[in-house]
Amino acid sequence: MNLILMGLPGAGKGTQADKINSKYNIPHISTGDMFRLAIKEGTELGKKAKEYMDQGELVPDEVTIGIVKERLSKDDCNNGFLLDGFPRTIAQAEALQELLSELGQSIDHVIHVDVPEEKLVERLTGRRICPTCGSAYHVIFNPPKEVGVCDKDGAQLIQRDDDKAETVKTRLSVNVEQTQPLLDFYDAKGYLVKVNGDQEIDEVFQDIQGFLDK
Ligand code: AMP
Repeated sequence: MNLILMGLPGAGKGTQADKINSKYNIPHISTGDMFRLAIKEGTELGKKAKEYMDQGELVPDEVTIGIVKERLSKDDCNNGFLLDGFPRTIAQAEALQELLSELGQSIDHVIHVDVPEEKLVERLTGRRICPTCGSAYHVIFNPPKEVGVCDKDGAQLIQRDDDKAETVKTRLSVNVEQTQPLLDFYDAKGYLVKVNGDQEIDEVFQDIQGFLDK
């Protein structure tokens, strides 16, 4: 099953991606996570990506398309994949179509997790991440058992720089502008499925399963 998860920052894509990954056993491929890992490891890719990410801007298409191509060619994608944070531009979407058709594959569904913009600022600034395993929490909506500590590995949770209030507004406005053309692109192809993301985490997942299990 080849899936794309779409939604504005804070819509809960990462949380739903973990659930889809566990239930359907397809790898969760987040370009944001791949860039953050590259930065942590100090690779050339990381250095390039950091310049843009620090400004809340998109990493150039040729760099992003390159890492996705490489990732999708790995064996664990044989049964499908779940893309999160990619594509972000029409050029990326077209490159993905081309790549999949070369592989004799196509996209099955594009799941749009829809949340009103005004709710997103509250969600984003409360988000906390485990720097070791990448698990995501929220101080109000999805708190860890112990404040500030990861349930899975006990690491001290952090707030991502781009979840801080100053950067959140830039990220949202950049994303609103960029997401709509992609939603239109996939809607025209008949791939788009809209899910109400302004519900409890499990309710959102139930709606997603409703579509995927049809
Ligand atoms: P995310 O974790 O998906 O919010 O991504 C964090 C940052 O990584 C974004 O603000 C971009 O700077 C960069 N990034 C992630 N995915 C992409 C993409 N598909 N195209 C360009 N830049 C990306």
